[in-house]
Amino acid sequence: MKRIAIIGAGMTGLTVGIQLNDFTTVELFEKSRGVSGRMSTRYVKSYQFDHGTQDFTIRDQAFKKFLGPYIKTGILKEWKPKLMLLEKGQLAKTKDWSEKHYVASPKMNELCLAMAKEINVQLNIEIIRIKKGEQGWLLYTKDENEFGPYDWVINTTPAPQAEKLMPHSFTGHQYFKKCKMLGCYTLMLALVVPWKWEAAIVKNSLISWITLNSNKPNRGNEETLIVQTNNEWSENHINEATSNIQNIILEELNSLLSYDFSDSQYLTTHRWRYSSTKQPVGVDYHLDHELRLGACGDWFIKGRIEAAFISGYKLADSMKKNLC
Ligand SMILES: Cc1cc2nc3c(=O)[nH]c(=O)nc-3n(C[C@H](O)[C@H](O)[C@H](O)COP(=O)(O)OP(=O)(O)OC[C@H]3O[C@@H](n4cnc5c(N)ncnc54)[C@H](O)[C@@H]3O)c2cc1C
Repeated sequence: MKRIAIIGAGMTGLTVGIQLNDFTTVELFEKSRGVSGRMSTRYVKSYQFDHGTQDFTIRDQAFKKFLGPYIKTGILKEWKPKLMLLEKGQLAKTKDWSEKHYVASPKMNELCLAMAKEINVQLNIEIIRIKKGEQGWLLYTKDENEFGPYDWVINTTPAPQAEKLMPHSFTGHQYFKKCKMLGCYTLMLALVVPWKWEAAIVKNSLISWITLNSNKPNRGNEETLIVQTNNEWSENHINEATSNIQNIILEELNSLLSYDFSDSQYLTTHRWRYSSTKQPVGVDYHLDHELRLGACGDWFIKGRIEAAFISGYKLADSMKKNLC
């Protein structure tokens, strides 16, 4: 059986792993202490925050088929918040979503946790180098721990991270250069007062989205709020200290909602350096058959969970047909 290393255990890496697991020996490497990547959940005391992905739609047939069992077991649930439009301090009811939006339950990382149970994932391992050995590809951590040899290495990290990691001779470098990813800041706060509305799209502000996280299915009793900044503003402030950024977001939030959130029970801000894709690549994935290296991820198509799945699924499908 061929041995395949996959770097990254977000939606893309886990999809590739699951699709190839029956045909090859698959090993996933994830630098964080948990799987899910940008679909993660932050826990603090009794509070939880879905601080990355908020919800997603299911349009593609393969995605629908794959998620069917997770919907049946209740790991995925439909979420139907009452949607508001917030502009210049005015809050008005807006049209509800015309198609179904899903979230994982009881927290956003639950889907990736369930997917990871099916494959060999090694956590807390950051791959910093990929080198060709006599028997195949070798992966290294900064402590010079060596993994391999592998017949194939598939990189599912965001484009700028993949660019640094992949050997110069990898033909996929043309795509790293084409892709432009943008950042985002998420302010998380625990409310001291009961909240009146569920989610708001924000216009003409550095804030683009506000939601009562605890309104999503099975989130418990603590009222928590998620506030996300728009990608253009975030990108222009991506290297600033998060403490400064937090003050700016708070000031904007206070002004938009005419309420002082500074005394919230818990308050923190997370910087997502690579949140969404401004300029996608235009192909679904890339395989370099000569070097036996591949790359896939949401950024090939669109900064969406569904795109991450499609990119990983199609790459794995091509490998199954041609290589295994
Ligand atoms: C703030 C925010 C809001 C979003 N909202 C939505 C939304 O509402 N709906 C929607 O559909 N999508 C949304 N998205 C986009 C969605 O989260 C992504 O499209 C999707 O999660 C991408 O999955 P991925 O596996 O391609 O990448 P990632 O989730 O980024 O996974 C890559 C993984 O690789 C790991 N990694 C990186 N470098 C290394 C290394 N050297 N060694 C080992 N591991 C490494 C990372 O830790 C990470 O776990 C949002 C994203 C953000 C950040």
